[in-house]
Amino acid sequence: MINEQIVGLRYDHLCPVLTGHFLTEKTRNAFLSMREAAFEDGIEIQIASSFRSFDRQCVIWNRKFSGQSVVLDKQACPIVDWDTYSDKEKIVTILRWSALPGASRHHWGTDLDVFSPSLMPEDYHLQLTPEEYDHENGMFAPLTRWLSEHMHQFGFYRPYQEDLGGTAPEAWHLSYFPEAREIASMLTPSMLFELLQSKPIDGAETVLDQLPLIWNQFILNISEAPEL
Ligand SMILES: [Zn+2]
Repeated sequence: MINEQIVGLRYDHLCPVLTGHFLTEKTRNAFLSMREAAFEDGIEIQIASSFRSFDRQCVIWNRKFSGQSVVLDKQACPIVDWDTYSDKEKIVTILRWSALPGASRHHWGTDLDVFSPSLMPEDYHLQLTPEEYDHENGMFAPLTRWLSEHMHQFGFYRPYQEDLGGTAPEAWHLSYFPEAREIASMLTPSMLFELLQSKPIDGAETVLDQLPLIWNQFILNISEAPEL
């Protein structure tokens, strides 16, 4: 894997899976096996999001930073006085819910967000919220529980399993750890620094200034992958 693939600038190492999604070949094969096993247990697994490019992540980031998209606070409530936030506060707040462009695990082709359309009410619009995926009361509770019990045997785990003070818990975000842990070890702060210097990302100056904090609090600070 080359640097441009790690930071989402290229995806020629990925292959198509289901409709409109891309994963590495190994992740795709593992995912399809897991999907089949779940199906036999009566659980539908569909992909909400898989590979996402640097440019796409940059659009998401800039919309939030500029206030065009709503940003949520720590309690997942929409922030109404966004304009009063300092650049550093904006960055740390956005990072709770969205990755820094170049550092999203969705760039790698090893990570994906999943859901079960068959468990959703008609005309329901998927939100990807902790309530939906709550293992007891969420609409996707059967999916959450099935994944917790079985995903490890297919090579998947949740990098955002618990709240470690960085990214909010994401029960829907799965990572194929045999490949992802290797890619994670290849990404470096200097790679990100070089990349973000040359890209139109809002708040770039503060992002670069705060990169050590971002690196430690949001990129390294994730749930541990199981042993291989
Ligand atoms: Zn995700």
